[in-house]
Amino acid sequence: MKLLTLKKAFAEKIKKGYPLIEKEALAGSAAHLKEGDLVDIVTESGEFLARGYYGLQNKGVGWVLSRNKEEQTDRAFFLRKLTKAVQERDHLFAASDTTAFRIFNGEGDGVGGVTIDYYDGYLLLQWYSQGVYTFKQMLIAALDELDIDYKAIYEKKRFDTAGQYVEDDDFVKGEKGEFPIIVKENGIQFAVDLNDGAMTGIFLDQRHVRKAIRDRYADGKTVLNTFSYTGAFSVAAALGGADKTTSVDVANRSLAKTIEQFSVNKLDYEAHDIKVMDVFKYFSYAAKKQLRFDLIILDPPSFARTKKHTFSAAKDYKNLLKETIAITADKGVIVASTNSSAFGMKKFKGFIDAAFKETNERYTILEEYTLPEDFKTIPAFKEGNYLKVVFLQKK
Ligand code: SAH
Repeated sequence: MKLLTLKKAFAEKIKKGYPLIEKEALAGSAAHLKEGDLVDIVTESGEFLARGYYGLQNKGVGWVLSRNKEEQTDRAFFLRKLTKAVQERDHLFAASDTTAFRIFNGEGDGVGGVTIDYYDGYLLLQWYSQGVYTFKQMLIAALDELDIDYKAIYEKKRFDTAGQYVEDDDFVKGEKGEFPIIVKENGIQFAVDLNDGAMTGIFLDQRHVRKAIRDRYADGKTVLNTFSYTGAFSVAAALGGADKTTSVDVANRSLAKTIEQFSVNKLDYEAHDIKVMDVFKYFSYAAKKQLRFDLIILDPPSFARTKKHTFSAAKDYKNLLKETIAITADKGVIVASTNSSAFGMKKFKGFIDAAFKETNERYTILEEYTLPEDFKTIPAFKEGNYLKVVFLQKK
């Protein structure tokens, strides 16, 4: 077995259960290692810490697989991890009104660098390094031994160290799907395409947030959904009885995709506004026209560059909120969401607080969400729980 030697401080972290091998953790060079190598992770004095694999991704250079020197990381190993993960999602497999959810969440389920999502009988594997991709045949063989009746497997390769998607035909095996397929989430329908670029049409980690919006925040309200992508939050609000929703996204594809999501839910999209536009431009327009919304959803990407604007959640969320507060009705609700792993909930709430202070407005926090249970995370790897959603009310 090849060795991967860690500096002292990082060895201590691994001992406490940390699953990621950070780049700075390596004592010496990794020139002897290639993607997918199984390694014994050891201290500088040669003490065994864990078994892992080498794979470069945007976070780190590999993941711990086992803390038991005797445990083989073979097909049976993957089968044990998958079996446990699937058992923990029993309630979701059993739910007839939800047919799309995550069944394996990387390090949360014991193998960092790979996730598996279930979309009404279709499986989507996402690989975050060349290294983890070398386990593909073994993982699929283990999947085939599981008691899941899947129609086909698709995959997304997100290899380069920025996590960028590698353009490809994403079909792997089975009976090819006719996309879009329609999945359900708490009874809401979503059109999904597993073979159309990096994204599928729906972000499964917002399931509970969409339900909350539909069930408790939308009835009779005017709703602004910014960075709306396919309009999933708008659809949830419209089904919850919103007076009107306005979806704003700069991507040209968002118009047709949003019309599609409204239509599969038998909602009249013409009764709603769908704008292909830079959100920051929309804010100026709305402020000038003195528009006010009862409910505003903010779910920007962690990082985005348009021709005019570079947005980074870590730097710019506060200002985004200030512009939002200006067009929120009295007692209106803001759903502030971020998937940035660059900061945690405490810092996020700091941005919220600062935005209200600087605009001389007051607020209360109504409720908070992090990742749903199927996006399983472990306490030893807090940054794995990247999602932060705060519902707040302007007083
Ligand atoms: N909130 C969505 C997901 C957002 S994904 C959902 O829950 O489904 C991020 C979206 O932000 C992308 O669709 C991208 O096109 C859009 N985007 C990025 N920068 C933008 C900008 N400056 N103005 C409007 N949309 C932007």
